[in-house]
Amino acid sequence: VHDGAGDYQYRLFKGDMNVDEFKHIVLEHDLPHALENNQLRVYYQPQIDNTTGTICGLEALIRWEHPTLGLVSPGEFLPVAEANGLITAIGQWVLQTACQQVKIWQQQGGYPIHVSVNFSALQFQQDNLADAVQQVLDTTGLEPACLRVEITESAMMTNLEQTADTLKQLQSRGIQLAVDDFGMYYSSLQYLKHFPLDLIKIDRSFIKDMHNQHKDQEIVKTIIELGHRLGLKVCAEGVEYEEQFTLLKDFGCDEAQGFLFSKPMPPEEIEQLLHTTPWMKD
Ligand code: C2E
Ligand code: MG
Ligand code: MG
Ligand code: MG
Repeated sequence: VHDGAGDYQYRLFKGDMNVDEFKHIVLEHDLPHALENNQLRVYYQPQIDNTTGTICGLEALIRWEHPTLGLVSPGEFLPVAEANGLITAIGQWVLQTACQQVKIWQQQGGYPIHVSVNFSALQFQQDNLADAVQQVLDTTGLEPACLRVEITESAMMTNLEQTADTLKQLQSRGIQLAVDDFGMYYSSLQYLKHFPLDLIKIDRSFIKDMHNQHKDQEIVKTIIELGHRLGLKVCAEGVEYEEQFTLLKDFGCDEAQGFLFSKPMPPEEIEQLLHTTPWMKD
């Protein structure tokens, strides 16, 4: 299947390379062709409005359907895309695909949903990012308020000035801005002060054991209060158990996302879910 297969095998036999190193070399070699060979997929995971219990948005999460390795997760191939610069093209493709798809669902069923798209640090460094995003909104017809850009704390902390500038441009166009994996990295509170944000996503590591860890509960409660005091909404990621969801609602958390509600799924399955979800009439 791979034109370079002989090459990999030669290197595998030659050195004392382990399976992970071997896989990494295959991914590096094949990624430049993944987009043109139509092997990338966007999966979607529902985000729940905690007050209504219904779907308020979908997070777009990329997958690579590799011809021999099967479904490859973003954690495995995005670092490769960051290293070789393909992340910009891939990110743009995810944005275009997700906005187009969610616009179609909005039109088909009148679902009041937004789409959350992840942006990597490097992607955020590109010039005229706000214009590139605006162009996608123009071509797909998606409302700016229905797009939520998710960036991790560490990505925000890279090149502070340019990031602040881009965020301001995005916000002035009405796009929602979210900090992803809050509490995971630097936890610098500086950017909360300087950046125009709409939402904080509490990192899964605090949610994972919160139903039986007192400290996690206190941290989660405090992050929610901090967010609210700054006028931000708060979403909890990685919610797997009913007990966690109950506590989060008690603490006033606005949104939740996790396997308790749904795993990330391909568009066909999400469409089924949207059709069978009881929507509030308002
Ligand atoms: P993230 O943005 O924090 O996305 C949430 C991750 O947690 C997803 O992993 C999702 O499948 C997983 N998850 C959701 N609910 C649960 C749960 O209840 N339990 C557990 N154990 N996991 C849960 P995934 O899809 O493997 O994505 C990993 C990361 O890759 C994402 O983390 C995001 O940082 C990045 N990523 C994914 N798609 C894109 C993309 O299109 N562009 C960029 N730049 N990054 C992306
Ligand atoms: Mg995210
Ligand atoms: Mg996250
Ligand atoms: Mg995460």
